[in-house]
Amino acid sequence: MSIIKTCNLSYVYSVDTPFEKQALNNVNLEIKDKSFVGIMGHTGSGKSTLIQHFNGLLEPTSGKVYIDGKDIWADKNNVYKYRFKVGVSFQYPEHQLFEETVFKDVAFGPRNMELSNEEIEKRVDWAISVVGLSSEFLERSPFELSGGQKRKVALAGVISMDPDVLVLDEPTAGLDPKSKNLLLENIKKYHQKRGNTVILISHNMDDVAQYCSDVILMHDAKVSSFGKVDDIFGNVETLLKIGLSPPTITQVFLLLNKQGYEVGNNIHTVEKAVEYFENKIIKK
Ligand code: ADP
Repeated sequence: MSIIKTCNLSYVYSVDTPFEKQALNNVNLEIKDKSFVGIMGHTGSGKSTLIQHFNGLLEPTSGKVYIDGKDIWADKNNVYKYRFKVGVSFQYPEHQLFEETVFKDVAFGPRNMELSNEEIEKRVDWAISVVGLSSEFLERSPFELSGGQKRKVALAGVISMDPDVLVLDEPTAGLDPKSKNLLLENIKKYHQKRGNTVILISHNMDDVAQYCSDVILMHDAKVSSFGKVDDIFGNVETLLKIGLSPPTITQVFLLLNKQGYEVGNNIHTVEKAVEYFENKIIKK
C-alpha cells in the first residue's frame, strides 16, 4: 500500500508572469508505507516543491496527490488535516520558529492536535532528545540559538507531532559531523520503532546510501529514477548523466574494479565494505 501517490503532478510558479517557472512536470510516484526514502537532485530540480505537495502546502497546478489513498484536495477545507499526518521540516528553520521559548515552539504542533498538557510535555521532551538537544534549551528563546540549534528545534517541532510521514529537507545542513551522525542515527531508530515513513532530501550520497531503503532522483522538474538504493547506486551512468556522483564507497569499489581487482558489486556503505573485506583479509 502506498502512503503517498502522485498522478501527473505538475506545478508552475508565478503563472502568466515573466517569472513563470515549471518546477514539477508530470510527476508520478508511489511511496510505500514505512519506507525510508531519499530524494536527491541538483538545486532547482524540484525537490522542495515536490515535498510541499505531500502535505498540501502547495496545490498542484494540475494532477493529483493522494495520501493513504485519498485525494487531499478533494475537500479544500480539510487539506490542513494532512499537515498532522505528513510533517515537513524545512531547510530554513527561521520559517518555522516564531514562539518565545523553545518549549512553546516544539509544543505548537501537539497543542494544535489538542493533546493533553501531560502528553504535550512528554512529546516535547521526547522530540528534543531525538534531535540531540538537552532539556536546558526548553526555556530559551529560539532566536538566540545558533543556526544548527535552530534547525534542531524546528525539526523537533515536526517530530513532536509524531507524523505518519516525516519529511526532512536537508536536516543536517550546517551541523558538525558528530551532531549530524547523532541526528540521523536517532531518526533511524525512531523510524524503526515507530514504523512510519521517512522522506529525506539530501545532497549527501553517503548518508542516503546508509539510511535510505529507496531513492528518488529528481532532474529538471521530473523524476528521473526511483528505486531501491542498490539499484540506483548500482547504475552509475544514470547518476553521472544528471551530474550526481555515486557514494564514496561505491567509487572506491568501482576504481578497484577498473584496476582489475575482482571485488563485489553493490557495496555503497562503510559497513558493507567492512563486511565484504572481513571475509577476504587475514586478521592480525
Ligand atoms: P530544489 O528543492 O530541488 O532546489 P525547488 O523546488 O526549490 O528545487 O525549485 C524548483 C524550481 O522552481 C527552481 O527553478 C526554482 O528557482 C523555482 N522556484 C522555487 N520556488 C519558487 C518561487 N517561490 N517562485 C518562483 N520560482 C520558484
